[in-house]
Amino acid sequence: MNTRPLARRAGLEGFVTWFGQLEPSDNALPSSAQVLAAAPIDVGLDFTFLPRKRAAAGQVSLACVLVAEHDCEVGLSVGSYRGVAWQAAEQRGATPEGNAEVGIADGSGRLALRSGANVILLRIETAKASGYACLRLDPASGVRVGVPDGASVDLDAGAVPEYAMVNRPGAMEPRAGFAHAGWQAALRKRWMELLGPLPEGLGAITRTIGETESNGYVRREIRMASPLGIEMPAYLLLPKGRSAPGPGVLALHGHGVDAKKNVVGVDDGSAERRANIDRVRYDYGAEMARRGYTVLVPDQRNFGARRDPLSAAGRYTRDACDVQFMRGFMAGLLPAQAEAVEWRAWLDVLAAQPQVDAARLGVLGLSLGGRTTGLCAALFDRVKAAVVSGALNLMRERVLLGQGCIKHMLPGLLGDADLPELYGLAAPRALFFEHGADDGTSPEIFAQEAWRRMRVIYDGAGAPERLGLHVYGGGHVFNGTRALPWLEAQLTA
Ligand SMILES: [Zn+2]
Repeated sequence: MNTRPLARRAGLEGFVTWFGQLEPSDNALPSSAQVLAAAPIDVGLDFTFLPRKRAAAGQVSLACVLVAEHDCEVGLSVGSYRGVAWQAAEQRGATPEGNAEVGIADGSGRLALRSGANVILLRIETAKASGYACLRLDPASGVRVGVPDGASVDLDAGAVPEYAMVNRPGAMEPRAGFAHAGWQAALRKRWMELLGPLPEGLGAITRTIGETESNGYVRREIRMASPLGIEMPAYLLLPKGRSAPGPGVLALHGHGVDAKKNVVGVDDGSAERRANIDRVRYDYGAEMARRGYTVLVPDQRNFGARRDPLSAAGRYTRDACDVQFMRGFMAGLLPAQAEAVEWRAWLDVLAAQPQVDAARLGVLGLSLGGRTTGLCAALFDRVKAAVVSGALNLMRERVLLGQGCIKHMLPGLLGDADLPELYGLAAPRALFFEHGADDGTSPEIFAQEAWRRMRVIYDGAGAPERLGLHVYGGGHVFNGTRALPWLEAQLTA
């Protein structure tokens, strides 16, 4: 697979594309013939390397052949996603072939290339099996990446249609100067057609399990019903002392066994909870309640009390959403549709609270909760403002990398539009993204591409000021330092 067209559209040139991944036991410097003969790694990202999926964390070796048109020196830097996902252990390059090693200290260095093929070898210590490593060349180099003799430069040539679709721009990606209103109506129509009719009926609270006093608010454990007749557990956080109806916020959790507890800051003593409390500021639901907002924190499908019993029993370890997607596919059902019905029911419940002004509904979430937030805001006009954390990316990238949850996708949708277009349907309503610079789950190249496309949409809608972004140092964590004040400003305006 080749994503060079995508990189070019993102304005990126001169990045290494073709790697060979070597066996970890292979300590000798490979020849260029060996590197070129090695199968390209399973992703062709212009500068991102993903260790083989589900490979154990540890040392991996990768190599590329850089073909220089003439003797030259180029800058090489390694890694945009340091720390969280991976760290460089030993890094060396050899140039020209078989000669001196080149140190790449602190993630960057200079390579003296000779005319012809040069082998670069990197050994990278991955701290996490799904981590990314990135290798970036000084773009002003006149250097290209070697490909095997006889290999087609167009790696899509002869590929099965689904690969070709992944590499092709979506038919409804907006271009600068596009007519926004017509585009929005057409994409919304397309999305709704694929989603199918959503069953009529309101979501409602069916029972209250219990109530706990907290700092400035009451945390009520409830059960809700959707028009699909499914019982959905949630926390409802009710601020004390609210006399007039105010904003209501839907706070959505990410992946994790019982992740809604993270969102409300409940410490149940589990190792995962401790890790989340220590590592990331995850209690954004509780934080909004402390700030005086009514907050609904539901379990998403497959999580918390809704966890798949087979997953809970350890019968499988993959993302339960993927299993849900497969089951749905076999049953002729689309998780995306059922989830949309649930989001609507959650908004119904929130809007029906006497403390809530239904004209001031907000949504926020991290990771899976971030993507859900963006899609929920796009789908339902009554969402006034939304904060998407840790989900500034593309479905295209998720399927290229062979990772990530695809439960929100619909058959054929990627041929027309990807997440930026769907998120962008919220325009001109207020939408804010926050993104950790070292977020290994959202590679920079795709985050930039997603952002660029949403900017085009909001510009086209005449509302560039309604789209916000905060990029901060850190990984796949909630930040909130700009996002939460922004959300408050939108909901209290
Ligand atoms: Zn998932």
